[in-house]
Amino acid sequence: MTLLPRTLTALLAASALFAAGAAQAEYPERPVTMIVPFAAGGPTDNVARSLAEAMRPTLGQSVVVENKTGAGGTIGTSTVGRAEPDGYTVLLMHLGYSTAPSLYKNPGYDPDKTFAPIGLVVDVPMTIIAREDFPPNNINELVEYIKANKDKISLANAGIGAASHLCGTMLVDALGVDLLTIPYKGTAPAMNDLLGKQVDLLCDQTTNTSQYIAANKVKAYAVTSLKRVPTLPNLPTMDESGFKGFEVGIWHGMWVPKNTPQPVVDKLVKSLQAGMADPKFKERMAGLGAEVLNDEANPQALDAKVKQQVPQWAELFKKAKIEAQ
Ligand code: ASP
Repeated sequence: MTLLPRTLTALLAASALFAAGAAQAEYPERPVTMIVPFAAGGPTDNVARSLAEAMRPTLGQSVVVENKTGAGGTIGTSTVGRAEPDGYTVLLMHLGYSTAPSLYKNPGYDPDKTFAPIGLVVDVPMTIIAREDFPPNNINELVEYIKANKDKISLANAGIGAASHLCGTMLVDALGVDLLTIPYKGTAPAMNDLLGKQVDLLCDQTTNTSQYIAANKVKAYAVTSLKRVPTLPNLPTMDESGFKGFEVGIWHGMWVPKNTPQPVVDKLVKSLQAGMADPKFKERMAGLGAEVLNDEANPQALDAKVKQQVPQWAELFKKAKIEAQ
C-alpha cells in the first residue's frame, strides 16, 4: 500500500533532478545582463561593453550591459546581490567592491557572503587631470596652484566608494588641503562637466581619460601607477613627482549572486577566460592603458583579492579617520 506512493515520490524526485540538471546544462538560454554600477560611457562601462562582446561566442548568448548607478556603485552592486542566483544577472565592479563596506554603514551587501566570485578582469591605472584651461601646466605647478587656491578649486568624483573618490581623497590628503568635491553617478558625466569647464579637477581611470588626453581636451598631470603607462609615456608617475609610494590601481572583477549553481558558475568562468583571451579585447584594453589579468580570471584569485583588500582599505580609512556614513 505504502510502496506505490513511495515509488512515485522517488520517481518524481528523480525526474525533478533530471530536469534541473538539463536546465543547467542548457544555460544560458537567453541573454545575460551585466550590471555596471556607474554611468554609461565611463571607464567601467567601457571595460564591460568590450568584455560583453568578447564573452558572447563562448556563452552562445548576448551579454546586455545595464547601468545601475548611484551611491558610489553600491546601488548597482547590491542590486545584483539580491538578484536570482541563476546566472542571468552578473556584476562587473572594481576595487570599490572592497572599499564600500568600510565607507558605508550599510552598503547593501557583504563582500564575503552575498556573492560568488567569477574572476578578476583588468587592472587600470588612474590619471590626474583638469579642465583644458586650468592654469598649472605640470604636476609641480599643480601642487603649488592647489595650495594657493584651495578655496576656489572643485574636484569631481563618482561618489563615495568610487575609484575617483579614493584617488581624490589620497591626493588632498597628501597635499593637506580640503577641496570642494562634486559627486556624479559615474565619471562619464563628471568628464562632461570637466570638458564643459564646470569643474576643475578629476582623478579618473585611463579607460576613460586616454581618449581625452590624446585629443588634448583635458590637461593631464600624472599617473597613479608606480611605473609609467606605455600608452601615456610623457606623463610622470605620482611616485616620481614627489608623492613617494602614491599608488592606486583599479582592479575589476566579475561576480554572481551566492548560491548560483556550480555548472553555471563554471560556464561563466570559461566564458570570462575565453573573452579575456580574445585578441580584440586585449588590444582594446591595452590601447586604453589597462592590463588584462588573464592568470587571475578565476574565482580563487578574485576571492583572495577581496579577502586581502577589504581589511587593507578598512585599515587605511581608520588611519585617515574616514568614518562610515
Ligand atoms: N569607475 C567609475 C565609472 O565607471 C568611476 C569611479 O569609480 O570613479 O564611472
